[in-house]
Amino acid sequence: MKEKDSPRIEKAIEVARKAHEGQLRKTGEPYLVHPLAVKKILEEWGMDEDTIIAGLLHDTVEDTDLTLEEIKKEFGESVAFLVDGVTKLSTARNGMRDIDTYLPATKDNFLRLMIALGDDIRVLIIKLADRLHNLRTLSALPPDKQKKIAKETLEVFAPLADRLNMGLLRVELADLSFKYVDPRRFEELKTLIEKYNQSAEKSLKKIEDEVKTALKKEKIHFKLSGRVKSVYSLHKKLAKHNQNINEIYDLTALRIIVDDVTDCYLVLGLIHSLYTPMNGRIKDYIAMPKQNGYQSLHTTVITKDKRVVEFQIRTEKMHEYAERGLAASFYYNEQKLTENYKKGKIEHLPTNLLWITELQMTAAKLREGKRVDLKKLKINLFADKIFVYTPKGDIIDLPKGALPLDFAYKLHSEIGDHVVGVKINGKMSNLNKKLAQGDIVEILTSKNQTPKQSWLDKIFTSHARSKLLRALRFEKSPDSEPKKKRKSR
Ligand code: MN
Repeated sequence: MKEKDSPRIEKAIEVARKAHEGQLRKTGEPYLVHPLAVKKILEEWGMDEDTIIAGLLHDTVEDTDLTLEEIKKEFGESVAFLVDGVTKLSTARNGMRDIDTYLPATKDNFLRLMIALGDDIRVLIIKLADRLHNLRTLSALPPDKQKKIAKETLEVFAPLADRLNMGLLRVELADLSFKYVDPRRFEELKTLIEKYNQSAEKSLKKIEDEVKTALKKEKIHFKLSGRVKSVYSLHKKLAKHNQNINEIYDLTALRIIVDDVTDCYLVLGLIHSLYTPMNGRIKDYIAMPKQNGYQSLHTTVITKDKRVVEFQIRTEKMHEYAERGLAASFYYNEQKLTENYKKGKIEHLPTNLLWITELQMTAAKLREGKRVDLKKLKINLFADKIFVYTPKGDIIDLPKGALPLDFAYKLHSEIGDHVVGVKINGKMSNLNKKLAQGDIVEILTSKNQTPKQSWLDKIFTSHARSKLLRALRFEKSPDSEPKKKRKSR
């Protein structure tokens, strides 16, 4: 890290200090602490000077008298552009009602969000640094706000960090948030991981020694370290495997970092000659990188004393990219990027981040008022959500797995209660049909229709379920308010 700030950064600190003068954070500290912390995070990520300056000024336009014009005059177009992007992003977000509908229910909000995200990806990076510091200091907020911000982070910002392959950030965001969202479960799993690691320590040491000896014998230059599994990712994996910890194969993982790709495969072979690889657990993310650009070899083996250990083998550069992701790319490409990275100039992004290019081109189209075919869009920032259209073109967001009745109840309970059929993409379909990304869904209703008990099997979201249950109760006793009736029995 730099020891001394550049004159431009020094000036930005002064401007931020003056602008936020007299403002306090919820922690009681002067507000300036926050932009300074964001600056530090961005420096640690190796971001360019404009991004760091924009980080220092990111809350000024929204919360102080400082104007975009003044920022532009003082620090240039690029900084002003970034600050404006961050401001837009938070405005777009404030327009959305609450966390369950964080994603825009209306087309307008969606456009705003896309445009805000797509303009310059550095906007997102500033936003992530901002969120990280806010989370680190979340204890100062009242409990209901803590939960809300933590939940939003788990649902939106941590997946975003993952899409940018910022592994270290993803883990920190997820674990910090999970602690607030479900404190008991967090402690429980944390203890579980610690106990597991303790019990594995001895045999792990032995495995490490065996591997080291084998690698040295082959004169391979390497670094070996253990990696600790994040509490939140364990929580998610356990949910997938019916809470059966014996099915989690990567609780213990060792990471081997070598000089080049050839050595990666050499090491893989060596590991397999030492231990028995588990069937179907060898993954070559070097030949086939993950969508976010992650590269590594993974293999799960069974050791001589019957331990299950995952090995992750990669080069230094791949490792750097796995931990810092997009930020690392910026670092490597700093020269190119700081000079050329402006709106529209997207050809300098590394090829493994092509989805960002896609996002930016989509945003550009939206800005020009062109219609965008979501179905063709491979970007999926929010992995567990789908977007579907009403025939009028409004966008409704639903969880993956949602059915037509979920869609109908999301529109309105009046619509949900009177469903007689559904057309998907113009064709008659049925209520058991799972909706897919980009479907155009038309609900057919009839005034004479009443909600059916059997619909409970055709519903995926708890939102629709509770609406249907309420309607069913009401059906049984249409003349009186259902709650009162129950009480009198
Ligand atoms: Mn902020």
